[in-house]
Amino acid sequence: MAELPGCDVAIVGAGIAGSALALGLSGHGLSVTVIEAQPLDSGPLPAGLELEDFDPRVVALNPRSQDLLEQWGAWQGVVDYRSCAYRHMTVWDADGTGAIDFDCSDVGAIALGHIVENRALVRSLLARLQAAADVRLLAPERLQACSREGAGGMLLQLESGSQLRAGLVVAADGALSRVRELLDFRTREWDYGHHAIVATVQVEQDHRATAWQRFLPTGPLAFLPLPGTARAHYCSLVWSIDSDRVEGLMNMAEEEFCLALGRAFEQRLGKVLACSRRYSFPLRQRHALDYVQPGAALVADAAHTIHPLAGQGINLGLQDVAVLAEELLRARQRGEAPGSLTVLKRYQRRRKGENLAMMVAMDGFKRLFEQPALPLRWLRNAGMRGVDRARPLKQRLMQQAMGVAERD
Ligand SMILES: Cc1cc2nc3c(=O)[nH]c(=O)nc-3n(C[C@H](O)[C@H](O)[C@H](O)COP(=O)(O)OP(=O)(O)OC[C@H]3O[C@@H](n4cnc5c(N)ncnc54)[C@H](O)[C@@H]3O)c2cc1C
Repeated sequence: MAELPGCDVAIVGAGIAGSALALGLSGHGLSVTVIEAQPLDSGPLPAGLELEDFDPRVVALNPRSQDLLEQWGAWQGVVDYRSCAYRHMTVWDADGTGAIDFDCSDVGAIALGHIVENRALVRSLLARLQAAADVRLLAPERLQACSREGAGGMLLQLESGSQLRAGLVVAADGALSRVRELLDFRTREWDYGHHAIVATVQVEQDHRATAWQRFLPTGPLAFLPLPGTARAHYCSLVWSIDSDRVEGLMNMAEEEFCLALGRAFEQRLGKVLACSRRYSFPLRQRHALDYVQPGAALVADAAHTIHPLAGQGINLGLQDVAVLAEELLRARQRGEAPGSLTVLKRYQRRRKGENLAMMVAMDGFKRLFEQPALPLRWLRNAGMRGVDRARPLKQRLMQQAMGVAERD
């Protein structure tokens, strides 16, 4: 079996979280290896603005995530390709008159965040990474086995038959993390009973740089603004819906689906004119009981997956990455090993509470909007109207979603 040169930190997964962590560690004297199962795609990204030119997977990045990406030198690459700033957010209840409108001017910001296509973000991060001399990228290469070697670190076995030793292995390998499974990290998880349908849609009217979300009893429906032209207006669709309804929607012909979608969205942007290929997947809440073990740490979706209704998944994940990088670099200055449990527990202490609080809040939201009972519907609508009128509370909610609340 070929033995590759060892490293201080091996990161499994070069999605958004893994490549961001490698960038955060680069240039500080640690040797880093990134292992990615997929080939690194380096061809040109589609430049056109037709439906199928958009990546159906997008993320709403808040200003805090944008700051981090700027710090890691990856934001400019995103902007140079394309993104869409959203300045307003409108949330309303399908079952009443409650609505909340958020506007970036309420908190003195120029945007609430940006809608970014996943592949553009990963591409920008990887372009920076490929220029980093202290980061070795192994792709396509898959982690197959991982074990602890006493106090000496971790032994990783790869699909190609090679192996390598690392002081620390970081799981950035997504929601179905192989590292988490191999090292027996326990999780608390349950089905939301929802599937998400994602696609790109063309709508009749300009989206007005607004992220739209309608809460239906069957789940939230979001239209997120995308770049377009004076005549062609696009949104990214995230339709979370009871799992028993998803097959019917996925099997509909495009025209029928657009009609059903337009009705569900109350035609807020006029007719839904066209829809790209649709993808659907189950939504599951998952939270690791521990993020760390000696020589191993979980970040982002490997540590937690959350309902997409508030668009917070990778925003939390990038905070994990930033805090883990900070703790590892501080440990290096103090002469502590990257795999030391004391070092890794500092990371866990700083991140688990915030992630858990957001997950609980999202779960509460989802449940509240599912309630058919009249008194609850009335309370919910009155609550939304109340929040909409209560400026300080609204500002607080916006700052939280933008990731800037703790800077006060
Ligand atoms: C419908 C939907 C909408 C969302 N919207 C938002 C939003 O608006 N805002 C937001 O913040 N978040 C959003 N999210 C969440 C966000 O998409 C995820 O949090 C994010 O993509 C997770 O990134 P990651 O790098 O942790 O994992 P992934 O993107 O899953 O990357 C994992 C990587 O690991 C690699 N890998 C896996 N196994 C192995 C192995 N054994 N060996 C080597 N490599 C491996 C994979 O190939 C992949 O490249 C949304 C999620 C969904 C489902």
